[in-house]
Amino acid sequence: MERPAPEVESIRSEGMQLQELPGIGNRTAARLESLGIKTALDLIFLLPRAYQDRTNPQHISAVAEGQFATVCGQIMSVSERRYRTRRTLEVMITDGHGVILLKWFRFGRWFKASIEKRYPPGTEVLASGRVTSFSGNLEMHHPDLIEASDRKGGGIVPVYPLAEGISQQTVRKAVQTAISTLWTSVRDEIPADIRKKHDLPNLGESLLRLHEPLDSEDVQILNLGASRWHKRLKFGELLTFQLGLLLRRRLLDSRSSHPVSPEGLMEEQLIRFLPFDLTRSQISALEDAARDMARNVPMHRLLQGDVGSGKTLVAFIAMLRACESGYQAVMMAPTEVLAEQHFRTISPWCEKMGIPVALLTGHMDRRHRAEALSKAVSGEIRLFIGTHALIQERVKFRNLNLVVVDEQHRFGVLQRLALARKGASPHFLVMTATPIPRSLSMVLYGDLDITTIDEMPAGRTPVETLIFGESDRSRMHLRVSREVAAGRQVFIVYPLVEESEKMDLNAASEMAENYRKRIFPHLRIGLLTGRMASREKDTVMERFRAGEYQILVSTTVIEVGVDVPNANLMVIEHAERFGLFQLHQLRGRVGRGRNRSTCILMEGPNISGEARLRLKVISQTNSGFDIAEADLKIRGPGDFLGVRQAGMPEFRFANPLREADLMSWARDAALQMLPMSGTLESGMLEEVRRMWPEDVLNTASG
Ligand code: ADP
Ligand code: MG
Repeated sequence: MERPAPEVESIRSEGMQLQELPGIGNRTAARLESLGIKTALDLIFLLPRAYQDRTNPQHISAVAEGQFATVCGQIMSVSERRYRTRRTLEVMITDGHGVILLKWFRFGRWFKASIEKRYPPGTEVLASGRVTSFSGNLEMHHPDLIEASDRKGGGIVPVYPLAEGISQQTVRKAVQTAISTLWTSVRDEIPADIRKKHDLPNLGESLLRLHEPLDSEDVQILNLGASRWHKRLKFGELLTFQLGLLLRRRLLDSRSSHPVSPEGLMEEQLIRFLPFDLTRSQISALEDAARDMARNVPMHRLLQGDVGSGKTLVAFIAMLRACESGYQAVMMAPTEVLAEQHFRTISPWCEKMGIPVALLTGHMDRRHRAEALSKAVSGEIRLFIGTHALIQERVKFRNLNLVVVDEQHRFGVLQRLALARKGASPHFLVMTATPIPRSLSMVLYGDLDITTIDEMPAGRTPVETLIFGESDRSRMHLRVSREVAAGRQVFIVYPLVEESEKMDLNAASEMAENYRKRIFPHLRIGLLTGRMASREKDTVMERFRAGEYQILVSTTVIEVGVDVPNANLMVIEHAERFGLFQLHQLRGRVGRGRNRSTCILMEGPNISGEARLRLKVISQTNSGFDIAEADLKIRGPGDFLGVRQAGMPEFRFANPLREADLMSWARDAALQMLPMSGTLESGMLEEVRRMWPEDVLNTASG
């Protein structure tokens, strides 16, 4: 069973049809297909969503909300209720210690009739499901219900996810047939020594035990998905993931690039201009980059650090090095606003050094863009800042050798692929704004080397953050005027949501008008919106920086890259509309001078519980790391940092963010299985190919 006969391999590649299994007809097969199950093999990988322990049902009084439980009780009543257009079937049961209400929201006539017929009042039944509560009473929705006398010797019984028109019994029987036919012939692609090292059972046995648990199994652990059988499946998935990352990395390393190792005159010149010293973290990040870029294999490095930790400068110095060596370098941002902001940060440095730098965005007027594009081809300009979209599609470079990607969490392993096609094989530096939990960085950036900037430039002070409601508005006004009276400046930020951009813009302008005319008629107030032309924005910003404006009312354009040390108060209107990271970034705009800074979050009416939680998190910590952890908890790993959009391979069994230990075992195992020069055994390679999109492992792409 450890190494099955070769002919059974065909089960995996071709797939035994569902109908070939005894007891499964066309109708059942069609219904199973709606669960995504096409072959017998698919069926045995359909894991139970829970387990019921029929031998040891719990007392109703002992079950808790949120738990998956099996209870035994007598039917008290069966009734149908109507709430407007909805019908609910309600069955109340009791075991003498407590009462629980079983509810079905979707059911056919036949279902109600059969319940009434099969379970007259007084019948003893077993009900299994997730326990919820409604105004203090226990409920179970769509439970699995059987007559207690039907329990056939009891034991632990799997409960499967269901599709429309297919019953628990049908799925259970189909899986049972499939697993008993197939389990001995399932091939385990993980080498036995690796499984042994972590005491993991083989795949066939694991599947069998997941579908037919032994009576001795701990049902709680099964329900948590934490049994060793579960572990084997999760590990297999994580291993496949890690092998894909390694294969991809190996592919990247098989390319050659032009080494960059200038004398360093340009950066020396820049550093002389800067009014501050580089931090120790910045210096060591630059050393990492220098080492990578001096090789003839392209750099693939992630630069992570909290908002305001000075990543842009590090990236820019790397760009200068490429420039000094005679190559071109480009910095790409996910949005125009961010690209413009990088441009604004970098331009003054370039100006001082007399090096031309070009901005490339969709909003530029045609003439300027055409000019920049032609200077990219000719090589006349060496440094470019632009948006991903424009640069990927339009720009041809003469000798591009460094690509800086500002990800801002919007991209992942897969999205990065398309970016590498310019130039021979340029060096890559990816910037991400928040230190993220290690398990996550392994997932998102497992194919990159990682440098962390873990230190803020000197002189930053933590920002005190307050949450104000509408009734505190005059208090807020008071704070603003006190701040201005003390000779300092204030940001007032208004959210601009894409769907209601126009309305929000109006609201922001109206608000600025209101401040100018009524609230602070004696103060000088500037307005900045994303819609304004770059030059206009620059003028407004310049005036604010120079202290001509005391208050700057702005939509979110100031999110990144604006530095006004004299601004020590930020007011964020409708703070509930912002995401955690946006709030964190916004707040990073104050706290840059010597004075103590404050951020006031104005909370709109009717905010959701989740939004309130976000505001609370922001008000309690200044650390991007803590915020990342909290975000992970609030939103769950799927949505975290837009992982889903980031084009991650999908995980069916493992939760890559929660299973940090298994993930690092998988990393080690992958390294062991794929030594630098070796190849992967074909079965495992096939698994990797199944999980990862083709172009990730394909030589033709980045
Ligand atoms: P990040 O991109 O990491 O969020 P930035 O690169 O935008 O941070 O840097 C924020 C601000 O800090 C910029 O105005 C930059 O000029 C300034 N800065 C960068 N490095 C230092 C340093 N070592 N000391 C003081 N200020 C710095
Ligand atoms: Mg930045």
